[in-house]
Amino acid sequence: MRKALTGLGTLIGPYGEVTEMSTFTCGHCQSIRRVKPFCDPADLGGLCKICMTVVCECCVGLGCDPFEKKLEREEARFHARRWIEGVT
Ligand SMILES: [Zn+2]
Ligand SMILES: [Zn+2]
Repeated sequence: MRKALTGLGTLIGPYGEVTEMSTFTCGHCQSIRRVKPFCDPADLGGLCKICMTVVCECCVGLGCDPFEKKLEREEARFHARRWIEGVT
């Protein structure tokens, strides 16, 4: 049986046309990976059940760590350093 058309590696257009995507972006580290059309998310890494994004093999199993959260952390550290150094 053919995998669902809405699977990873495909994009359904407004007229029902199927576009094959050759890349996906990891939801955790934002690295761009090449994929085969209709491949299973598990072949690349896996699906994070917490933020429901597909993650690469480097991030799978490390727990949920979405990129946005990482940015927030970076920002918090940046502000903390400014405050400590007394830079305004
Ligand atoms: Zn990743
Ligand atoms: Zn996640």
